[in-house]
Amino acid sequence: MLRKEVSIFSFGDLLEYYPLRHIDKTKIDSISSLSASSDFAQVAGKIIDKQIIGEKRSKRLVVQMKDQTGIIELVWFQGITWADKLISIGHQYLVYGRLGFFMGKPQMAHPDIELYSAQNATGKSFLEPIYPSTEKLKSKGLNGKAIGKLTQELFKKLTENELPENLPQSLVEKYKLFGRFQAYRNIHFPINEKAYQQALRRLKFEEFFFAQLGVQLIKLNRQQQFKGLHFEKIGSLFNDFYQHHLPFQLTEAQKRVLKEFRKDLGGGKQMNRLLQGDVGSGKTMVALLSMLMAADNGFQSVLMAPTEILAQQHYLSIKELTKSIPIKVELLTGSSTPKQRKPILAACADGDVQILIGTHAVIEDNVVFKNLGLAVVDEQHKFGVAQRAKLWKKNSIPPHILVMTATPIPRTLALTAYGDLDYSVIDELPPGRKPITTFHRKESARPQVMSFIKEQLALGRQAYIVYPLIEESSKLDYENLMKGYEEVKSFFPEPQYHISMVHGKQTSEQKDINMQRFAGNDTQILVGTTVIEVGVNVPNASVMVIESAEKFGLSQLHQLRGRVGRGADQSYCILLTGPQLSRDAFERMNIMVQTNDGFLIAEKDLEIRGPGDIQGTRQSGALAFKLANIVEDKAMLEISRDEVLKILEADAKLELPEHKPVAQFLASQKSKRGWGKIA
Ligand code: ADP
Ligand code: MG
Repeated sequence: MLRKEVSIFSFGDLLEYYPLRHIDKTKIDSISSLSASSDFAQVAGKIIDKQIIGEKRSKRLVVQMKDQTGIIELVWFQGITWADKLISIGHQYLVYGRLGFFMGKPQMAHPDIELYSAQNATGKSFLEPIYPSTEKLKSKGLNGKAIGKLTQELFKKLTENELPENLPQSLVEKYKLFGRFQAYRNIHFPINEKAYQQALRRLKFEEFFFAQLGVQLIKLNRQQQFKGLHFEKIGSLFNDFYQHHLPFQLTEAQKRVLKEFRKDLGGGKQMNRLLQGDVGSGKTMVALLSMLMAADNGFQSVLMAPTEILAQQHYLSIKELTKSIPIKVELLTGSSTPKQRKPILAACADGDVQILIGTHAVIEDNVVFKNLGLAVVDEQHKFGVAQRAKLWKKNSIPPHILVMTATPIPRTLALTAYGDLDYSVIDELPPGRKPITTFHRKESARPQVMSFIKEQLALGRQAYIVYPLIEESSKLDYENLMKGYEEVKSFFPEPQYHISMVHGKQTSEQKDINMQRFAGNDTQILVGTTVIEVGVNVPNASVMVIESAEKFGLSQLHQLRGRVGRGADQSYCILLTGPQLSRDAFERMNIMVQTNDGFLIAEKDLEIRGPGDIQGTRQSGALAFKLANIVEDKAMLEISRDEVLKILEADAKLELPEHKPVAQFLASQKSKRGWGKIA
């Protein structure tokens, strides 16, 4: 039961089943003093009435309780039979719960309730833990309080021996932390509020410390296990390209990042690096230059993109850029025919292909390389450790790996979810870019928005109109897209205007044709779903209209907006929303209107959504903190990381006596806690 409802499997789990809050049993509110401003309340009184009313789903138990000052109503919608049996008219009860008001009268739904005797009113202050429970558990008598009793029993038996200190004594002293045993006891049964806060602080620190230690150890192991491929020289391909064919001057940030790569590539260590750079910051060029370094040293490279469209675009632009230097570049995607595949696969295997560009197809097992030296993964911050490991296996000595993302990741997230990667940032846009102007408009302004697009088209520019596609299969979203398309067509009739449409239900051939027509300026408007989100580069497009913008998250809005502002012209992004917005949605629109800074937006995104929701990181486990919060406890995260780095620098194997507690804890974690199961 416990196992299924709240996943408590062992004593260890019970220890880490932390209370939501504590209540002081001696503090009883009088009913007349309750006001809408009090969130939770504890009252004691006599039951004067109880009735089961309503039918089926609206069936409920309604109980009236009276103290000397007034009457409160208690309601159960679930576990009715159980509550009905427990409660007798005429008896005194103590109840605790979230307070609500109905027609001016105080009310509690599903409060905790127990018989009230002189005993539980014995003046001594006692902070009782309140644990989360479920209605089903409650109906079996296992409410939060019962879980508390189990925990209390546990603590009667538990000694410091079973919960030994796992942090170095020096850190416990330096940061004035509670000992581990003391912390666990006080987070459940604090002697006072201050002790609770201290316990919380200690356990959060411990969470961060061991998470950081985990990622840093992964990194260390990898560095010891793999010696990196050595790109000894900067050769003629790189030099020729850099000196004669570079279409622009690199930004300072691009140069700095290249130097950082160079250190890894030429330094005999395997590169595992995350490159962050806002949309349009020029990551592709940095990737290309690194691939040229690989080729100069006789190694092959792959560049992997998340979509066919993007892979194709990379292929075309890299082909164009490298047309006057002797390098063989090929494209391989899911839609390459067997006939196209065969010679490419053969050329990969005998080392002929120097740069292979493609989708996930390039890491399939049938793609064999002669000597893969560098793998670049574009626009996929979801590319996790497991997938990276697949790439490592593509060569007897694992290739260098560069993961590029335009969805900036706040530092705290980068440290936790990607802590095992090194980290480079392009924090500068190429010169001459005009910041995109962003507007937020309601549905009712649609005609004006369409006229605005007309003006832009008259100047020779192009426009995107994007519809949300929340789920690939959602029928409603497609209907909206089609309706939208028809509507756009009526505003922009042929033959004066031409429109392309792309969406996920098209074959990739259809998608390509439509994209290419837009990219070649044969069509002025591209109507589509978020398949155009990532990477697409059409510098002549100056307007991005996002329909139902309230349905998108901040980072997705920022990505979409990044499709414009790529040329020399002033570009615009228009966020169209319905008339009514939730507070969060309204805040998102405001942030978009106020800033173009992707890093700021990512920080805000994290603040609004909370760390648990950040796409693709949930599964990573690196963020599975029970107490700590990477937004609120940012400073502590940084501190614990610094301490971990210091420790590993001095004693990577954790062999010094002062690190013994840490080493022992890690070992005990591996062998899983030896405690019995209770569930
Ligand atoms: P992203 O970082 O979003 O992948 P891209 O690599 O697609 O950005 O670059 C965006 C545009 O900026 C491309 O058209 C590219 O040619 C151009 N670009 C890149 N670096 C520079 C630079 N240093 N100076 C001028 N233009 C640049
Ligand atoms: Mg890109």
